[in-house]
Amino acid sequence: MNRCIVCHAQIDKQKAYFILTYQDEEYLACCPLCKSEFEEKPEKYAEKRNKKEEENS
Ligand SMILES: [Zn+2]
Repeated sequence: MNRCIVCHAQIDKQKAYFILTYQDEEYLACCPLCKSEFEEKPEKYAEKRNKKEEENS
């Protein structure tokens, strides 16, 4: 199970509204709003996810 990069809703990759590629990483968006939000501030959301993964490992 993956999560929407913006609102963190759980979504299947196959069911994601949109898959965005940023800095060679794939990010899922669950809806048009999340897609445009991520496109406006990709660095904000991408950094957030990377930080979280570091904390967990
Ligand atoms: Zn979302």
